Amino acid sequence: MSQVRLRFAPSPTGYLHIGGARTAIFNYLLARKLGGQFVLRIEDTDKERSKPEYEDEILNAMKWLGLSWDDSPLRQSLHKSFHRETVDELLERGAAYRDFLTIEDAKKLKDEAMRKGGLVAFRSPDRYLSAQEAEERAMSGEPHCVRFRIPDEAVIYQDGVHGRVEVGPDTLDDFVLLRQDNSPTYQVAVVADDYEMGISHVIRGDDHISNTPKQILIYKALNWKPPQFAHVPLILGSDRKRLSKRHGATAVTEYRKQGFLAEAVLSYLALLGWSPGDDREIMTMDELVEAFDISGINNHSAIFDEQKLEWMNGRFISLKPTNELVELIEPQYVEKVRAGVLPEETQQMLPIAVELLKTRVRYPQEVLEKGHYFFKDPETIEDRKAAKKRLKDDDLPERLERLADEYQKLAEAFNAQSCEDALRSLAEELEIGTGKLIHPTRLAVSGQGAGPSLFEMLEALGVDSVTRRMRWLAEFLREKGTPPDLGSDEDN
Ligand code: GLU
Repeated sequence: MSQVRLRFAPSPTGYLHIGGARTAIFNYLLARKLGGQFVLRIEDTDKERSKPEYEDEILNAMKWLGLSWDDSPLRQSLHKSFHRETVDELLERGAAYRDFLTIEDAKKLKDEAMRKGGLVAFRSPDRYLSAQEAEERAMSGEPHCVRFRIPDEAVIYQDGVHGRVEVGPDTLDDFVLLRQDNSPTYQVAVVADDYEMGISHVIRGDDHISNTPKQILIYKALNWKPPQFAHVPLILGSDRKRLSKRHGATAVTEYRKQGFLAEAVLSYLALLGWSPGDDREIMTMDELVEAFDISGINNHSAIFDEQKLEWMNGRFISLKPTNELVELIEPQYVEKVRAGVLPEETQQMLPIAVELLKTRVRYPQEVLEKGHYFFKDPETIEDRKAAKKRLKDDDLPERLERLADEYQKLAEAFNAQSCEDALRSLAEELEIGTGKLIHPTRLAVSGQGAGPSLFEMLEALGVDSVTRRMRWLAEFLREKGTPPDLGSDEDN
């Protein structure tokens, strides 16, 4: 049984949190790196809080991130009898005992011990009952729980992130394995299931580190080989407090809705608290799998930086094939058509708008927002600063019309090169710098002072739109002056 098998074990009591996703990613990467399997276990034993919609959401978010799993997910709640059998086995081996103390009495004893001597590990007096007496009382139906009998020796293990960990018996309570209502606890369920699923490595958050010695003791008592553990420091917000809703979105789905690409979220989270050992900041799934190693996980907390994630999103957008981005943006286009924001008939401009803008946006939807001029004529000059600076020559309306005439002449041969040539020769003829035509033309066709390469944009828009917009600006300037009076200046 030296097979490599890793698992992700979400509790379906909430959405897939950024931290949970990172745990899933690390387990996935190590499994794939070592040529092993990656499996899922739905830890749904908390009936009150577990919801099928959370489960769906978690699985969908994982699929979206590209974290495919092997086998069908194991549902922990269906395994209770195995968990109970495991407790029986521990009882039989003397590694566990029946505790007839009521919960309240146990608490009283703990509190008393605390008051007397500070931190004392809890041992129930029933730990010392004879096996026979305990069995008899249990048989007679006396309520009790089952506790693990902490042995009198330290637990020592090698943590993949923190190195050698040693925990003395005096800090470990005789913890509960089976509650009075006969329900198995997390500690025994997780060990029984990890064992049964043949899990070889467990990467999980530091919030589980106090569970690990207890779990290792259960493995030892049963003579089962424990998996290798690695505990990853938690993700913090910018104020160095544990990442929570106060810091903004924490659900993976929320990022998806906002327009983050799965590739960007994957790469960002993988690199949050793990490093490939070089300064790569953009990594694909294949590259991550290739480079992943537990030794690259940092032993200090990582700070979640949404701006960095945004930047990464922009990088991944610029690298993504145009047709895939178009597919992603199309539904949003349709939405905008429905809302009357964009016209239906210019949808064919989408691929070219994506192609020309994808290096300039951080979110896919910005192609529609920033690049609305690909789909409809500008109604004003949005970029007021550029308007003031670039639209101030008195003869600009005539100049724009002259260039529009030249462009009209190109008709069939209207392309980036011919547009550039025509503009340059007109500038020469008028004895002005090319900038005097380039900037006003850009403002005419887009309403913006900056954007993708002008001549490519002109070719994409086509001769009719371009000349119509240039003539529009000429008229606009005659009406509003040079530079145009664009109303209140407060946006600048
Ligand atoms: N279900 C646990 C959680 O969501 C994970 C248990 C484990 O990794 O051992 O935190």
